[in-house]
Amino acid sequence: MRSFAFRMRNLLWIVVAVAIWSPLTGCGPQAVTKWYKGNTHTHTWWSDGDSPPETVVKWYKDHGYHFLVLSDHNVLSEGEKWVATDKRRGGAASIYEETFGTAKVVRRQRADGQTEYLCAPLDKVKDQFEEPERFLLVQGEEISDSAEGKPVHLNGVGLTAVIPAQRGSDIFVTLQNNVNAVLAQEAQMCHPMLVHVNHPNFGWALRAEHMARLQGPVMFEVANGHPGVNNLGDDTYMSTERMWDVVLTKRLAEYGLPVMYGLGTDDAHNFVAPGGAGPGRAWVVVRSSALTADCLIEAMCRGDFYASTGVVLKDIRFSGDRLDIEIEPRPGVCYKTQFIGTLAGYDDTVAYLPSDPKRGLTCRYTDDIGQVLSEQTGTIASYQLTGKEIYVRAKVISTARHDVPVVAGDCQVAWCQPVQPGCRSGGAR
Ligand SMILES: [Zn+2]
Ligand SMILES: [Zn+2]
Repeated sequence: MRSFAFRMRNLLWIVVAVAIWSPLTGCGPQAVTKWYKGNTHTHTWWSDGDSPPETVVKWYKDHGYHFLVLSDHNVLSEGEKWVATDKRRGGAASIYEETFGTAKVVRRQRADGQTEYLCAPLDKVKDQFEEPERFLLVQGEEISDSAEGKPVHLNGVGLTAVIPAQRGSDIFVTLQNNVNAVLAQEAQMCHPMLVHVNHPNFGWALRAEHMARLQGPVMFEVANGHPGVNNLGDDTYMSTERMWDVVLTKRLAEYGLPVMYGLGTDDAHNFVAPGGAGPGRAWVVVRSSALTADCLIEAMCRGDFYASTGVVLKDIRFSGDRLDIEIEPRPGVCYKTQFIGTLAGYDDTVAYLPSDPKRGLTCRYTDDIGQVLSEQTGTIASYQLTGKEIYVRAKVISTARHDVPVVAGDCQVAWCQPVQPGCRSGGAR
């Protein structure tokens, strides 16, 4: 049982979101809203991406995205950085010069004869690409930490200063320390920021049990487009989507913590050669009153967004006891909507799977957690809550194949955010 003070601290985040940010930013939930498509996880020459920021940003803008967060490893896109072309980046340099013209590309010769390119800071790229209500760039960082010999990565979105990896005595403490660092910067700078845990199954690093206990408003990547991050799990380790159900059940029923929202992101690194960690695999669509970083982050912290790998939603409505989903139809495509949740009184038995010394212990939960409560076909789906649900979330699965699948044969999917009985709007804060 959690203390009164602990519960009050979580309540405080809701107060911060509703009472402080909305009046300051003028983007409360009651304003006229639109859907904006964006990606919050992208790499460039500022770290290990294969292409300069302009090439990366142009790809997203040309493909109809409304916003993009550049999130390189442990660095913001600012200051002066020269990048020497190597085998991987050589092709990108040629494309860079061909696309933007040698007059716009700043380069120099090193003493050893190698060519270096100046990496454009975000301010300069914003001037080049941003358009009001059409395209927005947001400063971000992939805080790339490690613990227990495993990668621990989180994205800070809307940051104004770089956050060094915070370190910690174990994986959970490392996650929490980095979440806290983003929240501390948010409080200090007095404008909304967002933190999400990245690719839990990358290196088989993170468990549902780590994420379930995280305090503060924090989200996670239910779908990461990088082919090496094991979204689907394996015989021993649960998929990221299964983790979501375990995390939600434990947070709400055991720990008295708020819901955790799920994102789709690209984690794109490769824009030159097809395949690899390319763009266009997973994204978020946010219902916001304006295309500004503050409004988008506020909307996401209210849960007013969905993750997608292709399915487009017309509307998501939640009245407090009924969840309605409306899907944008595409010719020749069929849709199945699953309403997934856990009911009060669920069987909380946990089985511990034999430990693989290299990969660590893993838990298996009963089918009561994250069960399909209703399944419907068509472009309209509704679920009437009975009050017994700890949470409900909707997943829309289409018959359309993904254009650039992570795993061959992937179909296009959308994941809506979880809701709780009696709560008119969500709130990660
Ligand atoms: Zn990462
Ligand atoms: Zn990444």
